[in-house]
Amino acid sequence: MRYELLLAGGELLDPGQGIRDTVDIAFAAGKVAAVEKQIPPSEAERVIDVSGRLVTPGLIDFHAHVYWWGKRIAINPDQVCPRTGVTTVVDGGSAGSATFAGLREYAKQAQTRILCFVHLSAIGLAYSHNVPELVPMDYASPKGAARVAELYKDMVLGIKVRLGERAVARENELQALRLAKETGVAAKVPIMVHIGNSATTMPEILSVLERGDIITHCFTGRANGILDQQGRVLPEVWQAVERGVIFDVGYGHTASHQVAKAALEQGFLPDVLSTDLTNVPPMIDLPAVTTTFLAYGLSLEEVLRRVTVIPARLIGKEGMLGTLRVGAIGDTAVFDLIAGEFRLKDNFDNVVTAGHRITPVLTVKDGKIIWEGGQK
Ligand SMILES: [Zn+2]
Repeated sequence: MRYELLLAGGELLDPGQGIRDTVDIAFAAGKVAAVEKQIPPSEAERVIDVSGRLVTPGLIDFHAHVYWWGKRIAINPDQVCPRTGVTTVVDGGSAGSATFAGLREYAKQAQTRILCFVHLSAIGLAYSHNVPELVPMDYASPKGAARVAELYKDMVLGIKVRLGERAVARENELQALRLAKETGVAAKVPIMVHIGNSATTMPEILSVLERGDIITHCFTGRANGILDQQGRVLPEVWQAVERGVIFDVGYGHTASHQVAKAALEQGFLPDVLSTDLTNVPPMIDLPAVTTTFLAYGLSLEEVLRRVTVIPARLIGKEGMLGTLRVGAIGDTAVFDLIAGEFRLKDNFDNVVTAGHRITPVLTVKDGKIIWEGGQK
């Protein structure tokens, strides 16, 4: 038989290719083998009817914490990602240079594809829920982080640093940010900066960042976010957008509906939607984050673009992940768009109501089914 798996009759939405159409998709040898109006079922070993359902490229969660066994509040990616349509996850700095080897070994045996940012702090975020990772600053290891980033380019995307009192002493914030930036420059990788409740202002933070560097938690409702006192997007934020700084949602425990809605109304669209998922409730997974953005008024296409083609480009896998073009890696997710009234609470007890909920049904990675929910 030509194909191992055939998903028949679903509505493919592939923002990277600008496709929204009812098609059959076939997989062989781990790859997308055919995308056609009709593929004969006799040519596939297994055929799944996904008519009436939404088919997307496998989702990419650009910011989560998946160093199971190495970070106290990490999630086990293989328990969470497959059942949420996520086939690739980026760990947001759980590992530092002293603990990276464990994450690398863990990633080798995990079903979920794991990439990461390595933390400026040598111990990463192993115990950061309780103790700041850069107190004392002796934990900063620019050389270690640069070495890991250079040696393991296949896995490490950049350098992570967190600002705010739970990460670093106020008086050392700017030093930590600059050290991270110098490390990124030395290793020729971007940095990812966690914002919210920092002593450093947004303009000061952004003055350090260049094209490709990433602000995460861009819709934080805590101090020193992207809005001014009047709720306007700061001019420095627009300038950063202009020069190619990336804004990642990292929804987690800091996102605010109020900040998100104010920014979106002014035309500020984040580049990436991600979860910042840990095992601390409420665990807002990627389908929940995307549903929240539907509630904010983004189109399904705008939402899916930010969990497929854009993060694929940021992880250097454009054309291979985050797309269902023929020849790409065979990662796909099937969802039901369930109509109803879904109340979604943010971290400040504000509520938005979504008219549709994105509900995972089936996940395929490397051409193989890794999770099956409620098939017809
Ligand atoms: Zn995080």
